[in-house]
Amino acid sequence: MTNSLIVQKYGGTSVGTVERIEQVADRIVKTRKTNTNIVVVVSAMAGETDKLLKMARNLTKNPARREIDLLLSSGERISAALLTIALQARGIPALSMTGRQIGLQTDNTHTRARITNIDTKRAKIMLKKNHVIVVAGFQGINAEGDVTTLGRGGSDTSAVALAVALRAKQCEICTDVDGVYTADPRMVPQARRLDVVSYDEMLEMASLGAKVLQIRCVEFAHKYKMPLIVKSSFKEGDRGTLICEEDSNMEQPVVSGIICDKNQAKITLKEVPDQPGIAANIFEPLASASISVDMIIQNISEQGHTDMSFTLTREDLVEALVIMDKVAKKIHATQILSDAKIAKVSIVGAGMRSHSGVAAQIFKTLSANKINILMISTSEIKVSCIIEQKNSKLAVNALHDAFKMQDKPKNTKKKTTKK
Ligand code: ADP
Ligand code: ASP
Ligand code: MG
Repeated sequence: MTNSLIVQKYGGTSVGTVERIEQVADRIVKTRKTNTNIVVVVSAMAGETDKLLKMARNLTKNPARREIDLLLSSGERISAALLTIALQARGIPALSMTGRQIGLQTDNTHTRARITNIDTKRAKIMLKKNHVIVVAGFQGINAEGDVTTLGRGGSDTSAVALAVALRAKQCEICTDVDGVYTADPRMVPQARRLDVVSYDEMLEMASLGAKVLQIRCVEFAHKYKMPLIVKSSFKEGDRGTLICEEDSNMEQPVVSGIICDKNQAKITLKEVPDQPGIAANIFEPLASASISVDMIIQNISEQGHTDMSFTLTREDLVEALVIMDKVAKKIHATQILSDAKIAKVSIVGAGMRSHSGVAAQIFKTLSANKINILMISTSEIKVSCIIEQKNSKLAVNALHDAFKMQDKPKNTKKKTTKK
């Protein structure tokens, strides 16, 4: 496609009311005056997806994922149609399209489907006719023609996938913050906006639950080297944050971001017989149900028994408990406990590869604030702690302060020691 094409995605708050939709339409009219071709991807109006989910869960605790997909896809369709109507009212040739109409094909994993292909034929024809295409984000269709959705925050991924398929110049994620910060600016008033973030660091931040971008959108952008810009839907002319390939001129702080994910839950199976095959018995059925498990802890075995705890996203808790009920009977666990009042606080930084003491500083800071750590996990460039949810704001602010993340770092040269 022409390289004057950009894909812009507007999130839920940005299209949250009819007035906001009108503001977005005005902004698109202005951008068009610079001869830019635009494909717009929209989310459901703020709160709509949660409202629909609540309605389904009032009918039954564990509704079928296929039906949830059809239900939730309606939220994005409403925004797409309303924005298109607003654009047409401004004399702009515009056309709304659902996931099916834009040709976005996915696998069969309902509620968290992966994009397999985008058939851009119709989109290309409409762009040649100089139309703005307004796409309902978050949705596609599987091989059977059933509606699928791409997981919470999935409109980000629709936008990047379309940008790649249509060979756009860049993909802009327009949202209710003006860029990516060192921590969620709503939780940490001291957080600092980052001008540039590498794909690798953004990937880690997204995977740890920084809501600002869905992880798959960053994976896609990285794989196809699509420049990704996070910027405000409301402030005009602002540069926002560019997410791109790492280069030597970038900031190289030891610690670049703090993430707090409250969308977590913990399950514990008590007094599991400590025998070979027990972990497989617990985690295989979860994997078969496409439920991802994050941290796992097995206690020291006492008199042939052990406790097994693991964390997962809160949305999967009810379904996982139904599965664990069957598993507990099979492996003779005495009790199943669950806790949804936890949070995962993580610190990310590529500089951790070469600097020691980050984990120790985290534990010291949490302890100084009397915050108990329930679980810990580390990798090359991150440390995560599970804590009680009520302590999350205190923890995140204390850590942000302890690592002086509000200050712009000096470029640090890489050494060769570890955490
Ligand atoms: P949208 O509806 O536009 O998709 P989201 O709510 O999904 O918006 O994502 C934007 C939100 O992400 C912000 O309002 C902010 O609270 C949150 N957020 C979390 N971590 C960060 C971060 N490091 N930088 C910026 N925003 C963040
Ligand atoms: N509406 C969906 C959600 O709330 C998808 C999105 O907003 O990207 O998760
Ligand atoms: Mg989002």
